[in-house]
Amino acid sequence: MDTLDLFDVRALDAADPMCDAGRRFVRPQGLTYLDGNSLGAAPTAALARMQAAVAEEWGGDLVRGWNGRDWIGAPARIGGKIARLIGAQPNEVIVADSTSVNIFKLLVAALKRQAPRRVILSEPGEFPTDLYVSQGVAATLPGVSLRLAERGVAEAIDETVAVVLLTHVHYRTSARRDLAAITAKAREAGALVLWDLSHSAGALQVDLAAAGVELAVGCGYKYLNGGPGAPAWLFVAEHLQSGLSSPLSGWMGHDDPFEFGDVYRPATGMDRFLCGTPPVLSMLALECGVDQFAGVDMAALEAKTARLTGLYVDQVEGRCAGHGLQLITPRQPEGRGAHVSFTHPAAFAIVQALIARDVIGDFRAPDVLRFGFAPLYTRYEDVWRGVEALADVLETGAWKEERFQARARVT
Ligand SMILES: *Cc1c(COP(=O)(O)O)cnc(C)c1O
Repeated sequence: MDTLDLFDVRALDAADPMCDAGRRFVRPQGLTYLDGNSLGAAPTAALARMQAAVAEEWGGDLVRGWNGRDWIGAPARIGGKIARLIGAQPNEVIVADSTSVNIFKLLVAALKRQAPRRVILSEPGEFPTDLYVSQGVAATLPGVSLRLAERGVAEAIDETVAVVLLTHVHYRTSARRDLAAITAKAREAGALVLWDLSHSAGALQVDLAAAGVELAVGCGYKYLNGGPGAPAWLFVAEHLQSGLSSPLSGWMGHDDPFEFGDVYRPATGMDRFLCGTPPVLSMLALECGVDQFAGVDMAALEAKTARLTGLYVDQVEGRCAGHGLQLITPRQPEGRGAHVSFTHPAAFAIVQALIARDVIGDFRAPDVLRFGFAPLYTRYEDVWRGVEALADVLETGAWKEERFQARARVT
């Protein structure tokens, strides 16, 4: 592909159907942000919403806000808005806890339903929290074990497997799995699948109903733009809801929390997957993030993801050849998510040198450079700037400077 110039990419931005949505985000002057896959950008509306929530709702309404401002309805209300983004019904999604905690709740609920099967099946190299929570569940429940399929999960599903736990888009390589095919394979063998959609909801067109998915979780602070540490969501297909019970049987999941009775009785529907009091301020910030998708066509969103990532791959390969970058992301747009990763022995220092040039991507141990292209607000101009800076850092060897070698606590 030909090398693009600033004029070309600005023309692409002018013709972008997501152009207006992109303007509704805070865009720090001079910053090229290619890390929406780690922490989504702030919607401008969130600033005013947070101020009003603190000053008027918390400050003025105080405890009256639970009913008066419907704080109590936030988990289901926001879940209902996320549902449209993932091809679910509004009554199949609820916002609660973190992704890690939701994985725990659904894994344990699934294992209980699937007795006497006792195996959680996943793959080596999956997102750490998914594997760690599975290990914790295995260490807590008698007879449960985590099996890691070395050669493909689909082939390893058999009649001993209770639940398969997989990410839809891999956090490191961006490889996208076939939701429908793996779900169908598992169902044939009598296993459930818990999908982690942290890197797909808000970045791709996901249709859980069409794919026959029954269980899923996902993150609120990445492509849903809910802010640092935003609450996560979980999905349970309607037909399965009454057959699953949460091991974290807290009062917010009770059929009537304000009955204040002594005996737990799960709520009907998704409310049963709540545990404690929702973090209202964080919920309202997440709602602003999710609201930015209003009116956005998910097919057009996925098309933009494919175009941004494809352009980045082509331009990096054209401009940065011979510097030792290895693409580890699939080349077919249907086979990847919204980030692009390369390996390089000096990945960490290269990412630091880019950050010093106000181009934010991230590093994933041990040798991955990862760049995210959140389709709602990333511009083609950002792609171009990201490529220019990377080419410059590699050509000048700027990454070799001492100051780019030191690692902080969060990488
Ligand atoms: C980001 C991410 C999470 C986040 O988990 P939290 O408990 O919300 O911090 C979980 N799974 C995957 C695949 C992720 O990418």
